[in-house]
Amino acid sequence: CGIVGYIGHRDAWPVLIKGLKQLEYRGYDSAGIALLEDKIVINKSKGKVADLELKTEGSQFQSKIGIGHTRWATHGEPNDINAHPHYSGNQKLAIIHNGIIENYQAIKEALLLKGHQFVSDTDTEILIHLIEEIQLRTKFDLQEAVRAALKQVIGAYALVILNEDNPGQLIAARKGSPLVIGVGKGEYFIASDATPILEYTRNIIYLNDDEIASINYDSLEVVNLDNDVQVPYIHELEMEI
Ligand code: GLU
Repeated sequence: CGIVGYIGHRDAWPVLIKGLKQLEYRGYDSAGIALLEDKIVINKSKGKVADLELKTEGSQFQSKIGIGHTRWATHGEPNDINAHPHYSGNQKLAIIHNGIIENYQAIKEALLLKGHQFVSDTDTEILIHLIEEIQLRTKFDLQEAVRAALKQVIGAYALVILNEDNPGQLIAARKGSPLVIGVGKGEYFIASDATPILEYTRNIIYLNDDEIASINYDSLEVVNLDNDVQVPYIHELEMEI
């Protein structure tokens, strides 16, 4: 029920853990993070963010990019495997998702026929396999593949994807579920609401429905599902005293 993402010059692990804690009030049953060390490293489990923190602290992660999630189960019981992040079959993509993919069953059946194997009972896992399948069949880059996948999807989502083949990029998208982006100096923060971002920056972009953001260390591009470039408006939030 909460998502966070970070790309920048700080260590991602503490930013993500702290961010997840600040989103705890939204309610959740499981928590997880994905970082990019030499390859994608995922830690996730049923339970509290504090348990995830205990399990992962002292791991000496180097990653300056990562994603984190608290889950409110809608499809598949709360357990370690159904916790997010989920990953593609080739394990090069990791995704966090808040919301519900309503037509996941039909997409899952089509992907099963193409040989995809699923490890969780979630609706979310089909998204990352669908994106992987599109990339296998086309020469699309990740943003194009995400866009093509989201055109097939019915439902609500705020999602962020980490990509081992492009270690300097996060892809974020939303429809229905909330997602905001904090714009820092050489760093970006993603979260379900501005709470975890405000200590770092007051410059906030509210991503609109049907928009996809490609976020690199030093730039951000937003397109809609028809690939029209959107100019994001950066709100400067007032200090609350
Ligand atoms: N539908 C997804 C799941 O059940 C995401 C739930 C959420 O928004 O936390 O895993």
